[in-house]
Amino acid sequence: MDEPQIINPFDDEYYMREALRQARKAAKQDEVPIGAIIVHQGSIIGRAWNQVETLKDATAHAEMLALTQAESALGDWRLTDCDLYVTKEPCPMCAGAIMHCRVRRVIFGCPDVKGGAAGGFWNLLQAPNLNHRAEITPGVLNDDCVRILKEFFAEARRRRAEGLEHKKGAAKESEGGDAERLVFDGP
Ligand SMILES: [Zn+2]
Repeated sequence: MDEPQIINPFDDEYYMREALRQARKAAKQDEVPIGAIIVHQGSIIGRAWNQVETLKDATAHAEMLALTQAESALGDWRLTDCDLYVTKEPCPMCAGAIMHCRVRRVIFGCPDVKGGAAGGFWNLLQAPNLNHRAEITPGVLNDDCVRILKEFFAEARRRRAEGLEHKKGAAKESEGGDAERLVFDGP
């Protein structure tokens, strides 16, 4: 809401940089660094980073938190004129929420070929049996989005190797965010 109005509403990289900024906040808090923002008519009305550990809530993915913010901002659960930017391809839970909210377009950074639900493994956002379909734009600032995840998990491994990693961090990697999964297959 407080964004300057000079930005080009069609500049996907601009908005992905905002999502990356959210992801960096996650990394600082020892969360798997994934960030999401929601744009409505050129304004950012939702911005969040993954907070699963902080909130002790497995549903607290960046996309879920950003969707809730956007719904509050608009006073409506329908986000039909909204676009969601996220640094990693949404999982099935988030893709389900995106469909419930009828988000117009989903733009993501790196695909998740094992767990992604926007074409990486499944494509829930364009399932032929559902009424709503979202447009998908993959691979925006892919390298930056992969790098932040790789650095996070490399650091986690380094700390574990040094015996500094605590139980929380060890559990995180087993939840399945390891960087090897994040292979970009091309749009
Ligand atoms: Zn998710």
